[in-house]
Amino acid sequence: MDCRIAEEMVSKYINHTLPLNDLEDFLEHIENCSSCYDELATYFIVHKAMQQLDEQKEDSVLDFRKLLEEDIRKSRKYIRRKKFHRAVAAVAVCALIAVLVVFLIFVILEIKEGIRF
Ligand SMILES: [Zn+2]
Repeated sequence: MDCRIAEEMVSKYINHTLPLNDLEDFLEHIENCSSCYDELATYFIVHKAMQQLDEQKEDSVLDFRKLLEEDIRKSRKYIRRKKFHRAVAAVAVCALIAVLVVFLIFVILEIKEGIRF
């Protein structure tokens, strides 16, 4: 992924609307690209600051960098969880197919037996 694509994903990342694959690529890019990370941090801080204004919590001073790190950690966790679910689903489908195949073989053998006798 190049910086231009990563920059286009920044606002989607902040709104949590990136598809899983894009999210993974994006996180990998910002980990290795400080300029895109800074871009993300800037947008993130503005976004969070505006959220705070809306909520009118003037007394709460937040560490935005820390919030961003937390957000990135959560996103990674989300990716891991999604991948795990996909793997489980894939295994379940394979198991189902295996059961069906065994069942079909059984049925075919039964039919052949029936014809023979
Ligand atoms: Zn970059």
